[in-house]
Amino acid sequence: METTSLRLFEAARKHIPGGVNSPVRACRNVDSIPLFIRSAKGSSITDVDGNSYIDYVLSWGPMILGHAHPEVTRAVTEAAGRGASYGAPCEDEVLLAQEVVDALPSVEMVRMVNSGTEATMSALRLARGVTGRNKVLKFIGCYHGHADPFLAAAGSGVATLSIPGTPGVPAAVVADTLLAPYNDLEAVKTLFAAQGPDIAAVIVEPVAANMGLVPPQPGFLQGLRDLCDAHKSLLIFDEVITGFRLAYGGAQARFGITPDLTTFGKIIGGGLPVGAYGGKAIYMRRIAPEGDIYQAGTLSGNPLAMAAGLATLRILKTCDYAALEQRTARFAGELESILKSKGVPIRVHTLGAMFCPFFTDEAVTNFEAVTRADTKIFADFYKQMRAKGVYLAPAPFETGMTSFAHTDRDFAATLDAARTLEL
Ligand SMILES: *Cc1c(COP(=O)(O)O)cnc(C)c1O
Repeated sequence: METTSLRLFEAARKHIPGGVNSPVRACRNVDSIPLFIRSAKGSSITDVDGNSYIDYVLSWGPMILGHAHPEVTRAVTEAAGRGASYGAPCEDEVLLAQEVVDALPSVEMVRMVNSGTEATMSALRLARGVTGRNKVLKFIGCYHGHADPFLAAAGSGVATLSIPGTPGVPAAVVADTLLAPYNDLEAVKTLFAAQGPDIAAVIVEPVAANMGLVPPQPGFLQGLRDLCDAHKSLLIFDEVITGFRLAYGGAQARFGITPDLTTFGKIIGGGLPVGAYGGKAIYMRRIAPEGDIYQAGTLSGNPLAMAAGLATLRILKTCDYAALEQRTARFAGELESILKSKGVPIRVHTLGAMFCPFFTDEAVTNFEAVTRADTKIFADFYKQMRAKGVYLAPAPFETGMTSFAHTDRDFAATLDAARTLEL
């Protein structure tokens, strides 16, 4: 039964647009209502009607230690007792910055903000400021938060003149956003050949995880690095999802590529609202008050958020990422065989602590292929799994997440649920 969720959703819709504070949560395209959550612990999430689910959303990524990890909870509770916000520096900001700098050799300095959106927005401003150029090249299907310059239409192919993906974004703002298909180095070369001297930065999810899960093809990231070097543009890795998830040192550690700037979010806040951007000191020193490029935040470096992030990273440093990756891969492989045995077209991608079913027969290497996957089967899959106690992302453009709290029993129970699906 979802009676209480339904009642709350109806009440929410009166005062909150669509009844939610972030659109995907509404579960519209899978023809469901959102579950209102009462509590969560470890790999499990419980709704207001008392139903418990194995959680593969994990707040869209942050909860890689599982929900309500005792040490993180203690750190936040103790911090709350010392006051929620000072608007002045606190020790945990320094300690968290130190952890981030230690974790990623490419990051010599880091600035804390409050969300991934703020991180990418600020990193782009910095890249534009240091290069004195305006254009940014992004990839179709990659998500970098909801700041105007990143909301250029996806799907129109390589476009020199982008069209805003939403009303409210002036065409002039996204005119400086260049688009290329993910994994298409030739398209990037063509854009650089024509507009290289104007390109401030290339921003990329080193593993695309907002169009389902699409890994970079061999040579793609290195190719971007080389092109940026050749044209004196900055390479920005948006590691808001992959940071501290694909490996402790993020995708850049995994693939051995050094970006100029990196953006963080999600895991870095341990479930509290934190984003960050960092990189080479020569660039980061351009940020105010050391430099002339302005960026600020009333709640940036908030003591509760810093405490949660710091506790999370300190635990993660000791975690066995390879083991979680192996267990996730085995689970994803078994999920794929089970779904295949149902006669539906299926490919389950997996990398690190992520997995993603695409209901398609073709190889998925870019957004166009993602859009050809079957959305009707996806909706059936989502609804039936939810009814069987498995909480998955309600959209085929979101990757599944695993955590260190997921047990082999969780995976087995999920596979048992999949075996009984009628697709
Ligand atoms: C979630 C996400 C963002 C935006 O972060 P918010 O905290 O939602 O603003 C940016 N980039 C990537 C890759 C993300 O996954």
